[in-house]
Amino acid sequence: MFSDKEQFKELFLRKLEMTYGKSVEETCRRDQFHVLGMMVREYISKDWIESAEKARTSKSKQIYYLSIEFLPGRFLGNNLLNLGITELLKEGLDELGIDLSDIEDIEADAGLGNGGLGRLAACFLDSLASLSLPGHGCGIRYKHGLFEQKFVDGFQVELPEQWLSHGFVWEVRKPDLAEEIPFWGTVESYSDGGRLKFRHIDAVKVLAVPYDVPVVGYQNKTVNTLRLWSAEPALVPWQKDIMKYKRETEAVTEFLYPNDTHDEGKILRLKQQYFLVAATLKSIMGSFRKKYNDIHLFHEKIGLHINDTHPVLAIPELMRILIDEENLTWDDAWNITTKCISYTNHTTLSEALEKWPVRILEPLLPRIYMIIHEINERYCQDLWAAYPGNWNHIEQMAIIAHGEVKMAHLAIAGSFSVNGVAKLHTEILKNREMKNFFDFYPSKFNNKTNGITHRRWLMKANPELCGLITEAIGEEWKSSPEQLELLNPYYNDNSFLGGLRDVKKIKKHQLADRIYKNTGLRVNVDSIFDVQVKRLHAYKRQLLNVFHIMHLYNRMKEDKHYKPYPRTFIFGAKASPGYYYAKKVIKLINSVAEKVNNDRDVNSYIQVVFLENYNVSLAEEIFPATEVSEQISTASKEASGTGNMKFMMNGAVTIGTLDGANVEMEERLGPENIFIFGLNADQVISYLANGGYSPYDYYHGDERIQLICNQLINGFFPNSSEHFETIFDSLLTENDQFFVLRDFASYISTQRQVEEAYQDQASWSQKSLKNIAMSGFFSSDRTVKEYADEIWNIKPL
Ligand SMILES: *Cc1c(COP(=O)(O)O)cnc(C)c1O
Repeated sequence: MFSDKEQFKELFLRKLEMTYGKSVEETCRRDQFHVLGMMVREYISKDWIESAEKARTSKSKQIYYLSIEFLPGRFLGNNLLNLGITELLKEGLDELGIDLSDIEDIEADAGLGNGGLGRLAACFLDSLASLSLPGHGCGIRYKHGLFEQKFVDGFQVELPEQWLSHGFVWEVRKPDLAEEIPFWGTVESYSDGGRLKFRHIDAVKVLAVPYDVPVVGYQNKTVNTLRLWSAEPALVPWQKDIMKYKRETEAVTEFLYPNDTHDEGKILRLKQQYFLVAATLKSIMGSFRKKYNDIHLFHEKIGLHINDTHPVLAIPELMRILIDEENLTWDDAWNITTKCISYTNHTTLSEALEKWPVRILEPLLPRIYMIIHEINERYCQDLWAAYPGNWNHIEQMAIIAHGEVKMAHLAIAGSFSVNGVAKLHTEILKNREMKNFFDFYPSKFNNKTNGITHRRWLMKANPELCGLITEAIGEEWKSSPEQLELLNPYYNDNSFLGGLRDVKKIKKHQLADRIYKNTGLRVNVDSIFDVQVKRLHAYKRQLLNVFHIMHLYNRMKEDKHYKPYPRTFIFGAKASPGYYYAKKVIKLINSVAEKVNNDRDVNSYIQVVFLENYNVSLAEEIFPATEVSEQISTASKEASGTGNMKFMMNGAVTIGTLDGANVEMEERLGPENIFIFGLNADQVISYLANGGYSPYDYYHGDERIQLICNQLINGFFPNSSEHFETIFDSLLTENDQFFVLRDFASYISTQRQVEEAYQDQASWSQKSLKNIAMSGFFSSDRTVKEYADEIWNIKPL
């Protein structure tokens, strides 16, 4: 092990030679990355062992955070930051002529998630460890994470992602801890001392092998574990179709489903869900039984948190274990289960609410289905007692209805806590989407506004800003981010505000270099960097942003004297491969980019960049360089958003709707430090309740809108018009479900205010300062503390 720079250098060189049998000069970056990774893992190992030992022996409650997605990105830089050895390694490597950031760039992103939901899980793990809380991640080790996106002729093309092809240096395979997971087969009943019991027979077994990844806390010696399960063939007797068996077992963890907020309903997905839950619970049971001999303590010692409904089978699986294996009565098992499970709802979009047809679930998981059926019977009896004779009401709330299992209903019935992810979202759950459930179980519902780890998104991504802040207010904000408010007194400090501008310029230059490297386009670093990066989705309204760009283009073409303040519009977005509309919007953004960037009448004022393959590593380069953050979802549709918080923390000013956590940002910032436009949630909801609005009135009533809509289909984009008919129709034939035309005028005029405000440098910097100063609330440390105190009931070790 190393404790100073000289020791580090010596060890690094020795390990390089020993591992690869060549001199430093002959090794490549990847060799260097691998050796450095091994060294850092060794550096972590003592604390990891001690933390695991504590978890094993301590009698305090342990939390398991079950999530079908984790989106951690790269680990090296983050681990060095949290271990506090970045400078030591950087200087040591410098002296060897190696640039640490070049080595960091070698690491593949762990992209085991689609977007916000998986990234939230990763931020929570960082906060759990940094707060010394006993909380562990449980997920799936997909062989291929989210697809890699390329643009070919402006269209999205998906390539399989290959994050494991050079190995994953942070993981430790634990084959001794593998578990067998049964699928298919049948249930047989038998009598056990006069008691009717059930067992699952003739199952096809899949082996779940855990790979443990250390999660390093911020300079506190805590190292928690993210356990990722991988599917392999179990040791089964030789059979005729052994190759088929091998393929089918390995397929379980081959791919991450690329759907964001959309439920696909495929059998392999259901297998993944049960695989995660069953493997996790088996391993928890194993360690519980070693520690305690009274199963009735289970809910006092173990908390299971389910991130959305994907792991909701934890409820029937725990019931199965308690009844079939621990011989508890139904009532005792239900009492323990419902005190153990807590659930986070992430969306009210109906297409995202999971439903599984009984005809799929029952044969795949026969014993689990029996238990869900019984849960539903008893639950409906309770509903009957509360709402006698009201069949309609009971049918709406039932877990099984019309041949489908409604996973959100199961999650609510089988848990003690149901939380939304921002105040507005929780209110919509309570008063609208889940009103029936709130009336029946009022005490279960609560809010936990999302957060992001300020360590990755500020300290690691923006060391320049981090340095400026620390110079002004000292270091304490790093462990207590709400102390960023100590920046407020610098509101009139011209030298500090100038420092903010200098940092932003540096980060803009760095992003401009990245853009040039990735796209060949040179962007104007003196222009406003206006950014929308997030999954591509109709409700997120990238289309509204595009319409603003087309509007600026049209105005400049029409009026030679109109010169907007220079702006660079930057996009990053993956579309789910089967999401037809979203892919057309990608093509549209690329078409607009081509048109704008190649038109000499406009391209010194506006430029459009669409970066391929938006992921965590690219995000870390984008947020610090952004000046205008686009958070323009249709009000009521974005549960929280977390990108909005990353921008805020890096001093970008938001243009957004009163949706998700934007509402709480506005509360903290005051209206002068955020640009709010468009319909609010109540207005959208009331339009929708009355059958929508009439987009034709806006098409006919606003020449700007008419021109833009017509350009989608009239040959304005040569050879592409047929692609944009879908978009035209979504607005005018399908009644513009997301209020793009309705909010257009408000958006355009608010964008003009943004442009005006930007030109007053000093006051813009004050807005930027305010955003940074008030962003501490949005650290996931605050969020995780709230979960720990109000849901999990756990304390720091
Ligand atoms: C933060 C983040 C998201 C979520 O962004 P939203 O704007 O909240 O939708 C998605 N993907 C990546 C890579 C992120 O870092």
